[in-house]
Amino acid sequence: MTFRTLDDLDLAGKRALVRVDFNVPMADGQVSDDTRLRAALPTVAKLRAAGARVILLAHFDRPKGRWVPEMSLAPVVPALSEVLGCPVAFARDCVGPDVAAAVAAMSSGDVLLLENVRFYPGEEANDPAFARALAENGDLYVNDAFSAAHRAHASTEGLAHLLPACAGEQMRLELTALDKALGRPERPVMGIVGGSKVSSKLDLLRNLVTKLDKLAIGGGMANTFLFAQGHDVGSSYCEKDMADTARDIIRLAGQNNCKLFLPLDIVVAEKMAPGAPARVRGLGSLDDDERILDAGPETVERLCRAMNNSKTLIWNGPLGVFEMPPFDKGTVAAARHAAELAKAGKLVAVAGGGDTVAALHHAGCAEDFTFVSTAGGAFLEWMEGKTLPGVAALTNQNRR
Ligand code: ADP
Ligand code: MG
Repeated sequence: MTFRTLDDLDLAGKRALVRVDFNVPMADGQVSDDTRLRAALPTVAKLRAAGARVILLAHFDRPKGRWVPEMSLAPVVPALSEVLGCPVAFARDCVGPDVAAAVAAMSSGDVLLLENVRFYPGEEANDPAFARALAENGDLYVNDAFSAAHRAHASTEGLAHLLPACAGEQMRLELTALDKALGRPERPVMGIVGGSKVSSKLDLLRNLVTKLDKLAIGGGMANTFLFAQGHDVGSSYCEKDMADTARDIIRLAGQNNCKLFLPLDIVVAEKMAPGAPARVRGLGSLDDDERILDAGPETVERLCRAMNNSKTLIWNGPLGVFEMPPFDKGTVAAARHAAELAKAGKLVAVAGGGDTVAALHHAGCAEDFTFVSTAGGAFLEWMEGKTLPGVAALTNQNRR
């Protein structure tokens, strides 16, 4: 995987169009979590230090190609300015003469945020005319939004064909970590896939069994696998119509020498509710009204042992209903074990996925993982082995 970075382009005095992900959570008109703003800092700082003019492109929410005032990026400016430690100007459009005038007024090191690119239908349609209108205000294009790279939109893909393009610092960090975890991992490489549905993670499971040495299946989707192997799952969440698919995946794993780890024991309760009385059971030995809500202690212990004997771990999906203690136990124990190994330099531990990230924070160990991707959909598509158009456009830079 080769892509250009900021180090490969001449930046001084240049108008740098930088695609960032500022789709931040807002509460009462203010940014309530500035993680994504902070992610843009290394790239912006590097560009400013090199004397570039920094023009930020971003989307916010889903205005679907129409002007929706509530979805303006203007309220992001104060928080962004604080994070970047410099003034941030705002343009009430992302293309056209007003933007051109605002850009012309910039000096080296200045930062300008443009209005929501999704106010134009040409953004999501990747309309070449819209991409050209965006490109008019830049000399080069920097993509720092890995989390939007699974979409071929004008500001995430089209622009890369119109201007000299490179990956920003956050994009570079993300791609390097992902390459280390699945592209060219140090072996043995182990995966943990949990969460609720087999049906939403089919492509992911199919891809992983061809690349990993071992794969542990947990969470609600493990119930489907247990059911497929003839075990009683009581009232558990289970996609019974996916049993054939689960058996296919078990077969595919065997063909690819990927050792599958299914649960050895389970934690069950009659109700899926916080604090519900929990019992540890052997496989298949649950009552009709009981449901499986977490991995049992033996299962978790075996996972931890498998991690000890691995060099790389890639994780998506919690092992149980971690939002409702005590059913967070399995996920928390496994996460802390992985974090300890990573901290000691014994394991490259990479994780991603909305609920997975929340679970790692709940376990208090996200910081000790080698890398935690907050990219959601892009992370999952990458785990599925798909080519992300935003990344592909940076790797093979063919101009249109
Ligand atoms: P991510 O967002 O990290 O990709 P998912 O959305 O696939 O993860 O899965 C997370 C959800 O799976 C959580 O809400 C969790 O409660 C649920 N889950 C985990 N184990 C079970 C289970 N045994 N039964 C029902 N739901 C489960
Ligand atoms: Mg989720």
